[in-house]
Amino acid sequence: MTETNKTSQPAVLLVYTGGTIGMIKDHKTGSLKPVNFDQILEHIPELAKFGYKIDSVEFNPPVDSSDVNPEIWVRIAKTIQDNYSNYDGFVILHGTDTMAYSASALSFMLENLEKPVIFTGSQLPIGTLRTDGKENLISSVEIAADKINNRAVVPEVCIYFENKLFRGNRTTKHNAEYFNAFRSNNYPLLAEAGINIHYNFGAIHYGKSEEKLFVHSKFDTNVALLKIFPGISKSFVESVLTTTGLRGVVLETFGAGNAPTLPWLSEEIKKAIKKGIVLINISQCPAGSVQMGLYQTSMELLKAGVISGRDMTSEAAITKLMWLLGQFPDINEIVESLKTSVSGEINN
Ligand code: ASP
Repeated sequence: MTETNKTSQPAVLLVYTGGTIGMIKDHKTGSLKPVNFDQILEHIPELAKFGYKIDSVEFNPPVDSSDVNPEIWVRIAKTIQDNYSNYDGFVILHGTDTMAYSASALSFMLENLEKPVIFTGSQLPIGTLRTDGKENLISSVEIAADKINNRAVVPEVCIYFENKLFRGNRTTKHNAEYFNAFRSNNYPLLAEAGINIHYNFGAIHYGKSEEKLFVHSKFDTNVALLKIFPGISKSFVESVLTTTGLRGVVLETFGAGNAPTLPWLSEEIKKAIKKGIVLINISQCPAGSVQMGLYQTSMELLKAGVISGRDMTSEAAITKLMWLLGQFPDINEIVESLKTSVSGEINN
């Protein structure tokens, strides 16, 4: 990992969508509720010390990330697009619960991205004494502004949390209690913040395209996530696979992509594939990769026509599937794109 130099007067846009970072405790009910963005910024006077131009836009009302959906992803992407030429980087303040889904979705939507889009948030609200929000926000702003030879150091959609910068579509929220809420099990860190911010240049993607930023904003939500478990019943699998309008399924299987060798299971899967439903296999294990055909228990899935999702996270797989189904009418194109990396979400 290497350090980098700073340039003068960068401009960063903060996009506040909602989440714990911007909440306070309601004294009557005791539950957390959102406050407006100016109140958040009052808690971080340190931001002014950067000497950057820092502007903000806020979603009104703010959205708890459990309520985030493709419409919100489109709003975030359009905000970036509308402001793209005026800023060096973007910091998206977002609830942690579905942050990995949003970062994955945005990584597919923003084609030819040449500027940093850094998602961050916090486990404790910004107004509380031990908040993790301050460091998360301050370092995210620094990363969003960092340049080398006049180019953004990290021109990717990322998540910054608890001193670590991750590729967004490789992350999973794994901890609901401690500040180190995110992990990227199958891809190295893009940077780590200590006394300095140390960038892992070899892991960062630098695009070669000279094309303008293009936002792909169509999603098809006719998808399902089917987690296999010992004792799974035929009627349950059948009811999922015969859902009206269903076009794609992420199958979460055991270990290296294995499922029970029940004849009815491969029959149901074959029937679904015959109807034009796309099935992709990812592992329930947080780390490692699907290797279809390694065991007999995944050979049946392979023979039925299930696609290997290799080392993709569940969040990347489901958002990629919704996004591809929204983009392409041709099933072969969807299948090919599922197998290959669109935005660094899968090892080729
Ligand atoms: N419920 C909150 C959200 O995801 C939790 C958080 O921000 O950490 O919006």
